[in-house]
Amino acid sequence: MIELNNVSKTYANGVNALNNIDIFIEKGEFVYVVGPSGAGKSSFIKMIYREERPTEGSIQIHGTDLMTLKEKHVPFLRRKIGVVFQDFKLLPKLSVFENVAFALEVIEEPKDVIRRRVMEVLDIVKLKNKARFLPDELSGGEQQRVSIARAVVNNPRVVIADEPTGNLDPDTSWEIMEILENINRNGTTVLMATHNREIVNAIKKRVIAIEGGRVVRDEPKGDYGYER
Ligand code: ADP
Ligand code: ADP
Repeated sequence: MIELNNVSKTYANGVNALNNIDIFIEKGEFVYVVGPSGAGKSSFIKMIYREERPTEGSIQIHGTDLMTLKEKHVPFLRRKIGVVFQDFKLLPKLSVFENVAFALEVIEEPKDVIRRRVMEVLDIVKLKNKARFLPDELSGGEQQRVSIARAVVNNPRVVIADEPTGNLDPDTSWEIMEILENINRNGTTVLMATHNREIVNAIKKRVIAIEGGRVVRDEPKGDYGYER
């Protein structure tokens, strides 16, 4: 469960990115976050994995209060939340296997557990046969699949995706959606900021629209609602 109460964010330069946001997301929901560029979508998403802190208000993620969470406990939060970025952010010198294994090595899981779990998630994203490849030997869609494997490898309760299809062609984007839907079907909450009109209008989910730092629309099975 994700709960934002009266959340506002003003950056150090005075830009007011979010204004009095109230959002409640149930465990297991799939939510699109839409809105024009500069609306505050990324700021909203960054609050949830504590990349940014609100200036006002409160945020609870599965019982963790992000406002009082100490810096040294942020890594525990990150274990409940997997993040997928538009530009993948894979470590270029590590193989596919090592990129995905990294989060498990940090928490010192035994080697055989790591191996089993990494191959399991690489199987989900259909990349078992490319475990030894380096990121730059893969297509964009394959790199995004690696980054999804990395995001889910330690069974997070929430997956956050910030424009995960932004750098991908339409066919590849549909593949990525299929994987995110599968992950969601297994009970993981998925929160996805997107400009992909076709996807939002075809794969109907809850839509939260943000404009000028405010929630202007929140609909179950909503439309994208913008021309582009
Ligand atoms: P979106 O993801 O919808 O494009 P953002 O959350 O990135 O919107 O941006 C919302 C507003 O906050 C914009 O005016 C943007 O310029 C500003 N902004 C975003 N990040 C920062 C930052 N780190 N410092 C200052 N202003 C920022
Ligand atoms: P300390 O011994 O420094 O007080 P603890 O490990 O007992 O630290 O945890 C204190 C806080 O850290 C908890 O209230 C919780 O918010 C957070 N925390 C600890 N372990 C986890 C975890 N596995 N998942 C999420 N949060 C955790």
